[in-house]
This record gives sequence, C-alpha cells and structure tokens, in this order.
Amino acid sequence: MTDTKPYETYLWSPKREEYEAKEIPEDIDCIFCAQANNDDRVSKVTVYEDDFLMVELNIFPYNTGHLMVVPKKHVNSMTELEDDERNKLFSMVSNVEELQREVVDPAGIDVGINIGKEAGESIPHLHVQLVPIYEKDRGFMETALDTKVMKKSIMDMAEEYRERKDILEDY
Ligand SMILES: [Zn+2]
Repeated sequence: MTDTKPYETYLWSPKREEYEAKEIPEDIDCIFCAQANNDDRVSKVTVYEDDFLMVELNIFPYNTGHLMVVPKKHVNSMTELEDDERNKLFSMVSNVEELQREVVDPAGIDVGINIGKEAGESIPHLHVQLVPIYEKDRGFMETALDTKVMKKSIMDMAEEYRERKDILEDY
C-alpha cells in the first residue's frame, strides 16, 4: 500500500516548529496562480522556479519529500499545453525524479496528476505530484490512527532539496 493520500493529522518528529501555512484569502481564485504571481498572502516553498514553472514542496505532504511540478500557465488539462510546454513540463518531472532519488533515496516514487474533482483534484490547475515511497512507510500511527509521522520538517526538506537544485536547472 502506498501513501498517496492526505492524512488527518501529522506528527512532526523533528523538534522544530511546524511550518505555518497561511489561510487562503477568499478573493484568491487559484492558489497556484497566486503563487506564480508572488502574491505574498499565500504560502510557497519552492525548490526551483523560473518563468515557466515552479517546483515546490507540498505543505500538506502525503509523505516526507513530496514535491509538485506546477506550470505557471493556468490550464487544467495536459491538452491545453503547447507541445513544447508539455515536453518541458515532463522533462522537469524527470529531473525531479532524479532529485528525489539523490536526496531522499526512496524505495519508489508515486507520480500522479489528478484532473477533475472526481479524480481527486484539489486545485483545478494542472500539477504533477511526486510522492516518495519508503520501505516500512506505514506503522501503527498511519494504519490505526490516520496520523502521518513526518521524518523531516518542510523547511529542512526544502533546504536539502535546494542543495541539489543543480539537477533541476537544465531541462
Ligand atoms: Zn491557476
């Protein structure tokens, strides 16, 4: 069984203050567009960003080291991207796979896109999620209590990924 779902509760095992996600103001239609426009009313923890896309930590991670690749253009289907945009997006997804292998050494990686609410989409703006899966991921806390034990804080994880940002730069 993999960990590709949000948990009820997180238990942050590092003794460090939990990352505070900001409450999203009502007049923000799309959180990813707001992030792309550097709206400081929304939280954003990026590992890499340029004019075309963002690679960011999911601040409600399904697992330690959960990353998302988000094109800045507001689309909600792969078919709405131009061919070269789609190629660039997936070239970055491949780089992120490499980054995760280097930095968090997962047993596997669950790569996913949810298009449409019925498919589990939470934000209707195309994004690719890469969730590292580790050996012995699910213990008592996860199985019985729906509580995810997070091995590293969001900010520590961001720092570790940023140290190997070079893997992402060429895509
Ligand atoms: Zn958007």
